[in-house]
Amino acid sequence: MNSTSKIRNFAIIAHVDHGKSTAHVDHGKSTLADRLLEITGTIPKSKMHEQFLDQNPIGREHGITIKLAPVRMFYNGYMLNLIDTPGHADFSYEVSRTLAACEGAILLVDATQGIQAQTVAHYITAKKEGLKIIPVINKIDLEAARVNETRNQLFEVFGFKKEEILEISAKTGKNVSNLLNEVLEKIPSPYGNEKNSFKALIFDAVFDEHRGVILYIKVFDGILDKNQKIKLYQNGTESIVNDLGYFSPSLVSQKSLSLGEIGYIVTGIKDIRQARVGDTVFIKDKEITPLPGYFSPKPMIFFGMYPKNSADLIKLRQSLSKISLNDSSITISDESSAFLGNGFRVGFLGLLHAEITKERIEKENNLEIILTMPQILYKKEDPGIFYEPYVRLLIYSPQKYLGSIMNLCQKRKGKLIDIKYLEDNMIAKYEIPYSVLIKGLSAELKSISSGFASLDYELIDYRIANLSDINILINGVLIDVLSEKAYKDEAASIARKKITKLKESLPRQQFRQIVQGEIGGVVIAREEIPPFRKDVLAKMSGGDRTRKDKLLDKQKKGKSKLLQTSKIEIPQNALYALLKEN
Ligand code: GDP
Ligand code: MG
Repeated sequence: MNSTSKIRNFAIIAHVDHGKSTAHVDHGKSTLADRLLEITGTIPKSKMHEQFLDQNPIGREHGITIKLAPVRMFYNGYMLNLIDTPGHADFSYEVSRTLAACEGAILLVDATQGIQAQTVAHYITAKKEGLKIIPVINKIDLEAARVNETRNQLFEVFGFKKEEILEISAKTGKNVSNLLNEVLEKIPSPYGNEKNSFKALIFDAVFDEHRGVILYIKVFDGILDKNQKIKLYQNGTESIVNDLGYFSPSLVSQKSLSLGEIGYIVTGIKDIRQARVGDTVFIKDKEITPLPGYFSPKPMIFFGMYPKNSADLIKLRQSLSKISLNDSSITISDESSAFLGNGFRVGFLGLLHAEITKERIEKENNLEIILTMPQILYKKEDPGIFYEPYVRLLIYSPQKYLGSIMNLCQKRKGKLIDIKYLEDNMIAKYEIPYSVLIKGLSAELKSISSGFASLDYELIDYRIANLSDINILINGVLIDVLSEKAYKDEAASIARKKITKLKESLPRQQFRQIVQGEIGGVVIAREEIPPFRKDVLAKMSGGDRTRKDKLLDKQKKGKSKLLQTSKIEIPQNALYALLKEN
């Protein structure tokens, strides 16, 4: 028997609908984790409460559950390490590194919802990492549970045999101990060589004000003791092991971390950017081959972030820098807009990443912030030629929506790669510009399929984009926050829509307002908003023609003067409304 034969490292992968209006669609990861903590006696009954691993102080995202805290459980003489992935495609790199730290995964599918695109994407990633996957149908206690249908889907889509699929209720606990036994029996023990020099994978890192960066690791070779000197392969960062141990889920110190174990290392490193997920930790001055799959994710999408109240600028700056202490994927620089004042240009991994970060900042600091239109990062290699990011889109949907889905994707510059027909459902693969995802593809997909179709994406490459700059001007003044790049063939209609919206939302002023949409210096849309007309004639009854004319004349002159000298003013609310539309 080797030293790791009593270790099981696993994750629960499930569809997680983060963000808005999602209260009841999650598949039950936290609830299942609660049952596992109970059965294994990891948390004493007196301390147990619902969604235990969500509320743990180690959990990085307050408010919204992005990821459960890692936890070690002991059961029937086994050590079980459960670690979680942040689910959403924005974090696909982190997901892949977390799965790389496991030998198995529980694929949890809600019997009332069935499989979703994310489920398929997770499965593919887990398979790529060589994991043993245990298929589980959850929520069988519910009347709306469609257990047979979900079982058929699991068979059709992934080829699971009916008898290997477990049916559980995470809520009532039904069959959860059977599931635990499956974990012990079916998931292999960790591989590696305990005689080799220490080598571990970083699957997460957090920054602790007092202790510095704490690495979350899985040992792939050898053993690590306290006070040893360590080095991170890709970053070259050197440090010392101040402490190490495992997750309970609070940090529990132990003497050493050995082959196959999942645990933490307290390093004292001060900057989280020096400890990247996917990097390999090893003993300084030893020769090792780094673990495969390292990559440094870059922000994909940029927003201007402004405090609604300009007095909150400092608060926003502090809060952004606090967040970046624990999130190495965010980039921050100063930005200012003629209309929004001073703010920041912030880079995120994707829309969800931006949304949860914004929510966190607002909640934790009690301030309101404005995000400008999202901008993607184009690569500009040759002068005037832009390359845009493309994704491989995976759509899972009932077949009856195929026609509408194909129309939608074609309209949005998607290229169909493959369709796999299942009994009632289908999996379609497209290559499509990332910018289309940013501009609401997911919502459109939901709406044409009554909510039944779902999507997941993966970045593939950069391709030439035919872009034009749309400039929006009011009385000749460029409105920076409303101007953007768009596809050449769509630019004119986008510009026209913007101008129409502007006309609708701008209030009248003392002066005439001319709103214009320009593409390449050519005005292609123009609207006028007439001024308030002070009724100078109202007080005059009948009579004196020349006096009337004089008055009108005077008013005209006054107006043109105003037009030339007036500063453009967009009322805040109108501007926010316009930005929200995007
Ligand atoms: P997560 O987001 O994947 O962690 O999902 P949660 O564990 O938070 O569960 C989402 C919702 O489904 C919660 O309201 C749970 O109480 C509920 N839920 C989870 N498992 C079951 C189950 O087996 N039966 C029933 N009836 N509800 C469940
Ligand atoms: Mg949850």
